Amino acid sequence: MGIPSCHCNGGDVSFPRGPQHPTTPHHLNPHFLPRVPPPVEAYEAAMVLSGVGDALGYRGARWEYCTSGSQIHAELAELGGLEAISLEPPEWPVSDDTVLHLATAEGLEGEPLLQELARRYVAAMGDMEGRKPGGSHAPNLPSGTSQLRPGEPEGYRIPFNPKGTGCGAAMRSLAIGLRYPRASELPALIRVSIESGRMTHHHPTGYLGALAVALFGALGARGEPPERWGAELLRVLPLAWEYVESTGVAIGDNAAAWPFFGDAWHRYLESRGLLEGGGPPKVPLLPSPAERDAVYLGWALEGWAGRSGHDAPMVALEALLAAGSSWEDLCARGVLHGGDSDSTGTIAAGCWGLQRGLKPVSPGLHRGLEYRGRLRDAAHRLHALAWGTS
Ligand SMILES: [Mg+2]
Repeated sequence: MGIPSCHCNGGDVSFPRGPQHPTTPHHLNPHFLPRVPPPVEAYEAAMVLSGVGDALGYRGARWEYCTSGSQIHAELAELGGLEAISLEPPEWPVSDDTVLHLATAEGLEGEPLLQELARRYVAAMGDMEGRKPGGSHAPNLPSGTSQLRPGEPEGYRIPFNPKGTGCGAAMRSLAIGLRYPRASELPALIRVSIESGRMTHHHPTGYLGALAVALFGALGARGEPPERWGAELLRVLPLAWEYVESTGVAIGDNAAAWPFFGDAWHRYLESRGLLEGGGPPKVPLLPSPAERDAVYLGWALEGWAGRSGHDAPMVALEALLAAGSSWEDLCARGVLHGGDSDSTGTIAAGCWGLQRGLKPVSPGLHRGLEYRGRLRDAAHRLHALAWGTS
């Protein structure tokens, strides 16, 4: 079967090696001058700030699924703004996003790898108390884990799920890009992101979110500017389909559901003038939370911005493009909005940290972060595995 029809490009999947864009923001920060390998501090900032974006967007379940960015920003002002927050439990625990991101990050060296990841996703379910909202509208709930049988042959596979479109696979996948950052490792990145993604979200809209975030992590680690990430995603999608087809698993169902993700991304990138990966992006100002909520809703499935595999990374990328070097703006756009704000926050803040480091962020936001030590240790281990240093 050929590539399911969509508007995405086929063909060239070559990644320009290394970051050669003197006008990119990297240039502004000598600590992150483009080079290979990136400093381990960049990995540390990516992992720690992914947890910060999660805990901030979650706010103990109060802000996750709050539908009004205006209300969130009003409450933030009452707290005294970002600078005044000490991001730590009990008011600011990390949510399921970070617990599962850690499961991914710490599981990328087991053997066999996919069994190890499945085992860790199942084990992570024991650490979910107080980490997700109750009730029926919790699309991140990784209910697929109840079907995993780690240790058994093919025990990491679950059946195709027509409803498996949520962002739960995307939110835990930045570490995959940190582990496989090189262009030559793209086949591993595709395989691990798709297979780990469909351990819980066996639907292209769900597991391609994992591919997108993993790819953003790899491109960020190589110093590629976010202006290029979306175009690279479109170029990789046909390879992703080749992989899915090669596995022989639920091919018909996957093919039928395949086009939505690429079409949504094609529309978004076209609207921002980024189909070819050039710049500068045409990102609308959207100065108010309400304006941003309206735009994000326009990308969403079923009226929840950022809840799905296609639009959680989209909100994150939009925030990165619009915020540039401003951490406050990154939070305003990528974390503190109406919708699935802890998941978009995990992705956006993690990617921002990879580029910009921890230094611009007020210490109160990360000093007491829950699982800070594990996130830091995972970052160092991923860096050592990826780049052969420690
Ligand atoms: Mg969460």
